[in-house]
Order: sequence, then C-alpha cells, then structure tokens
Amino acid sequence: MSLIGIYNHPKAAKMAYFGLYAQQHRGQQSAGIVSRRPPKREGEVLQICEHLGLGLVPDVFPEEILNRLRGSRAIGHVLYSRSGSPSLRDAEPFRIQHRGIDLSVAHNGALLNAKSLRLRMEKLGAIFHTATDSELFAHLIIDAMEKGDKLPEAVAAACKEVRGAFSLLVLGNDQMIAVRDPLGIKPLSIARVEKTDTWVLASETCAFDLLEAQKVRSVRPGEMVVIEADGALASPTLTSIQWADSPGCKHCVFELVYFARPDSVVFGEEVYSCRKRMGIQAAREAPCEADCVMPLPDSGVYFALGYAQGAGLPYEHAMIRNHYVGRTFIQPTQEMRSFDVRIKLNPVSGFIRGRRVVIADDSIVRGTTVRGRTSHLREAGAREVHFRVSSPPVKFPCLYGVDFPSREELIAVHKTNEEIREYIGLDSLHHLTLEGLKAILEKPEDFCYACFDGNYPVPPNDEEEAAAARGLRIEQPED
Ligand code: AMP
Repeated sequence: MSLIGIYNHPKAAKMAYFGLYAQQHRGQQSAGIVSRRPPKREGEVLQICEHLGLGLVPDVFPEEILNRLRGSRAIGHVLYSRSGSPSLRDAEPFRIQHRGIDLSVAHNGALLNAKSLRLRMEKLGAIFHTATDSELFAHLIIDAMEKGDKLPEAVAAACKEVRGAFSLLVLGNDQMIAVRDPLGIKPLSIARVEKTDTWVLASETCAFDLLEAQKVRSVRPGEMVVIEADGALASPTLTSIQWADSPGCKHCVFELVYFARPDSVVFGEEVYSCRKRMGIQAAREAPCEADCVMPLPDSGVYFALGYAQGAGLPYEHAMIRNHYVGRTFIQPTQEMRSFDVRIKLNPVSGFIRGRRVVIADDSIVRGTTVRGRTSHLREAGAREVHFRVSSPPVKFPCLYGVDFPSREELIAVHKTNEEIREYIGLDSLHHLTLEGLKAILEKPEDFCYACFDGNYPVPPNDEEEAAAARGLRIEQPED
C-alpha cells in the first residue's frame, strides 16, 4: 500500500497521480485520489472531488477524469492485493461526511484491534460500508470531533485507540495531517517542491524524484505533522505534534528486502546499495562454484549484482522477462500461479545449456516461483542450479500489512532447508542468515524481523486479532 499527499499545488490531483504512478509497485489492486479546492474568494464554496477504481493507476485515471479532480490539495492511495476477490468498496482514500465535516483518510499498514473497535463503534451507531482500517479511523476521528476535539486532537485520539502498523494521511476541510505509529513500522516522508510552497507526503522517496520535490525528513514514529493554510492563497504552515512516545523504531525490514523500489531511500537506507550489500554478505556466507549469477527479475536484481561482485562470478541476464505480465503472487489459485510463473520469464536456452547457474531472489514464501523457474532452467539445459535468497526463511505471517499467506502455506514452516532444496530441485540453497541481514544494516536494532523470528513488536492479544491483522477480514456480502 502506498500514500501520496499534495498540499498547495494548483494541480494537486495530477501531482498525486504521478506520485501514485511512481509507487505503483506497492499496490496494483486499486487506486484512488480525493482532491479539495478551497474557496479563493468570499462566496465561493469548497469543492471536493474524488475518484477511485480497480486496477492500475493509469487505467483508473484517464486524462478526462484527472482533469475533473480540481483543487490545490489532494491525497491518494494504491492498494495492495489481499487474499480474496478485489472489491471497489475497499479502495481508498475513504471519505466520510458528517455534520459539516468532510474527511478523507488513506492508510498504509494493518491494525490488530480493528474488529473490536468496529464492534464498539457499531454499538454506538456507526454504520460501516467497507472492511478497511481507513473507515475505522474515520469513525474514530468523527467520534472524537463529536466530543469537541479539533481535527488534529481527534486524529491523535483515534491513533491512541488503535494498535498495529499505520502510516496515515487525513485530508480535512483545511488541514492535511500525516501520522506514523509509535514504532514507525511503515515509511512516510515529507518533501517540498523546490522554490515553492508545495508540500508532498509519500510512502517512498522515488515519488519525490518524479515530482521534483526535495525530501525534508521522515515523519517521526509517534509524530503527527499538520499542514494548513489560512485560505487558498496563504502559505502553508507545518506543525509537529508528538502524539505518542516512541519506545524506539521497529521499521519493516521487508521494505528493504522486497517492497521498496531500489531508487528509494527508506528508513535512512538506500535500498539499491542495501540490496547489493545483502548480496555481498550472501556471497560471504555461501560462495558457490558456478559459471554465472542470474537474478530472478525484478526482485532479485540488485541482490544478484551484489552476490556476483562478492563471489567474483559473471553477472548474466539470461532469463527474459515479459514486461506485460503482473506480479505472480496476485493470482488467487495455486494452478494459476504456476502458469503465471512460466509465462513471465523465459530462459535463453542457448546460453543456459551446459552451464552451472546461481539464481538469486529476495524471498521464498510458498516456493512456487522458484520451483517453476528451476524446472524451466533444467529444461533449458542448465547443468546445475543453485539458489541464493536475500532474506532468512519466512516462517511467520506478517501482522502489519505485508500480505504473506497463512502459516500453513509458508514452506519454511514445514520443511527444513534441505527439504526445500529437494522440493524445488536445486543443487544448493542458501538463505541470508538473520545475523547476516542485520550486519549489513546501519541500525539493525531499529527493524522488525517478525516474519523471520516471530518476535512481534506489537503482539496480538489473541488469535482473532492475529487473524484480523493478517487480512482475514470480516466477510462483507458482495455487491
Ligand atoms: P512464492 O512463489 O510463494 O515462494 O513467493 C516468492 C516470490 O514472491 C518471490 O519472487 C518474491 O519476490 C515475491 N514476494 C515476496 N513477498 C511478497 C509479497 N508480500 N507480495 C507479493 N510478492 C511477494
């Protein structure tokens, strides 16, 4: 999931569109933008426009739709595919109108106590239309405002109720508010378009590059940044409110392993060089006698580069990617996933034949991807196939928004390294060790490794909370 916020730009929605475009890799299920045009002179009314759709950003926002999204303030969101069929209802930002308050909320993360909070709000009369955490935030915020809070205090009150991972953007009548949870699990940064008063908020810094905005800083864990302007023509001001003490950071390490784009800087780490360092470390841990190293594109590319450098092996690209096929993980059934794996990459048989190859990728989840690739390489005549993985075995589901399958489906839960090697059909297999992963990070103590070691920094209170946070959402009847 990904967030974009634009404050004080004549074409805020277009900026948001490009910001989402740059972050499309963080979610392909749905996209949405809400924009607001504050009155410029007396008598004019506030205009609010919104558009949400299923699919990729350019498909959801053709030019004529984008032109209709007027205003100088906008927030946007792309949603990552979760298990189950995509529903437009769960597209974000979520917008709510209540007694003159018009709020839009976009969220990146997952909440553990969403179910019990929903129930509480429902008992108070709230009617929910979606299964999203954004809607829950909206109801909690409205509830606090009903009790007399101004928007920033109400957002803080809502954040104090929830437990889990959240980076949040809220667009109110005059203010745009950015929040991070006390552990800073998900990224969110602030930038400014050079020589202007335009402020940009984004999950990843690659969006700033496209929008020609300079990163100012990250929103701090437990911090809320309120951007506001007194009328459409005034310069915005930024106010920082520490709504919660941060006991220390627990950033999601999977952002560095897989999620973030390599041209982003996330949690103070340059993703590109970080992935190369993982490769160099893996070469130290598990060198290999082979003829070349090949990434599984695209997720294995920079790790493979590092491995090749570290191991002193030639780096090759002899698996050709069909760029018109989406991510394999998204397919709902196992059969489709296997097919998709094969349709996406085709080995260059002339090069592969007779060679000993090391393939490299970021992770093994179910084992489907690499199993398909390995048998393909064998069919193409590879003499040996070795596999190096830039993360330790994924043994625990993520409770904070990374869409891993249930524990039962994680191959490393049931099989040893040797059994996985055999199942996939490899000559050798090595996962980067947890110690090795920590060793290449600047501040290893600042990261969450729960998917590898099961140490959840925000532990679930019970099974139900754990299931809810894993995206096993409350069933909604279909439209
Ligand atoms: P699998 O085929 O189930 O072992 O999945 C591993 C593949 O999925 C790797 O190529 C990863 O790049 C990719 N991957 C890892 N984590 C995720 C995730 N949370 N969502 C989508 N793809 C992922």
